[in-house]
Amino acid sequence: DRLIDPAALRDDTAIDRAIRPRQLVDYVGQPTVCEQMDIFISAARGRGEALDHVLIFGPPGLGKTTLSHIIAHEMQVNLRQTSGPVLEKPGDLAALLTNLERGDVLFIDEIHRLSPIIEEILYPALEDYQLDIMIGDGPAARSIKLDLPPFTLVGATTRAGLLTAPLRDRFGIVARLEYYSAEDLTRIVTRSAQILAIDTDVAGAAEIARRSRGTPRIANRLLRRVRDYAQIRADGRITREVADQALALLKVDALGFDHMDRRLLEAVIEKFDGGPVGVDSLAAAIGEERGTIEDVLEPFLIQQGFLMRTPRGRMATQTAYVHFGLTPPAPLRD
Ligand code: ADP
Repeated sequence: DRLIDPAALRDDTAIDRAIRPRQLVDYVGQPTVCEQMDIFISAARGRGEALDHVLIFGPPGLGKTTLSHIIAHEMQVNLRQTSGPVLEKPGDLAALLTNLERGDVLFIDEIHRLSPIIEEILYPALEDYQLDIMIGDGPAARSIKLDLPPFTLVGATTRAGLLTAPLRDRFGIVARLEYYSAEDLTRIVTRSAQILAIDTDVAGAAEIARRSRGTPRIANRLLRRVRDYAQIRADGRITREVADQALALLKVDALGFDHMDRRLLEAVIEKFDGGPVGVDSLAAAIGEERGTIEDVLEPFLIQQGFLMRTPRGRMATQTAYVHFGLTPPAPLRD
């Protein structure tokens, strides 16, 4: 149980729903994506058409699901939600598609995990709003074709490179979410605190923001844990000092790193002489899945300049040695 795991999917409580923005104007940060989506949505609505299919990519917790709900809300249509690994049988997808109404949004999370059979069914649905499936098997098998209403597929994935080229080509709109700045996260924390009636000053919100790894999901989670601390160990108000004490207790360091980051960097430095090391060797060394390293752990370390991705593998940077107080391997010393 990692407090700052951006991928933990347990944020569908009433509180999470209350703080999740519903309209584009409440979606903090991501100026390029917001401006583009605003134009595309207004234009499609003006023409009375379904919005083009949208691919959203970005690390976990950055707002892909939130944006898909906002798109449906702004288009004034229903949203149906599923995910790549859940769609196992052609019939599952057919049932979803045939229940769509004109203009509806079908949101497929983890779209890179669709099976090839499902992808094949999706192509004509995306291109011509046609469903073409086989029912039955053996000599009695027959293919049926159905017309679907125009709809919008919103696909979300952590990394664009995971998608097959034919699937990627079928999205007219691509939105790439970036890690949030500390200022944007401060706004998010302040907004959530207001909705939840948590007493926070600007410096307190900023401290939580700075330690949230550029990720709104983590910022909202830390806010709730710091609130507990403020209530029990202070007078209830979240100031910079209270936030700092709470996060120190929660073992989230000044830059938002924790024991998992340290373990990964220690492995690179101590077991592989600072790298380069391939991600599979690294996964074996720290007992984590390759996907977790690639999706959750390393993107932020790379973005912060602690880890480098080279053609021969991952390397720790000077900044990493200094921040974690680790000793560089012999050839790099002094
Ligand atoms: P993802 O689908 O990318 O994993 P989510 O859309 O579930 O991420 O976002 C996680 C949480 O972070 C949401 O519940 C929402 O409250 C918050 N959030 C995400 N993006 C924003 C944003 N741009 N502005 C405000 N809050 C956001």
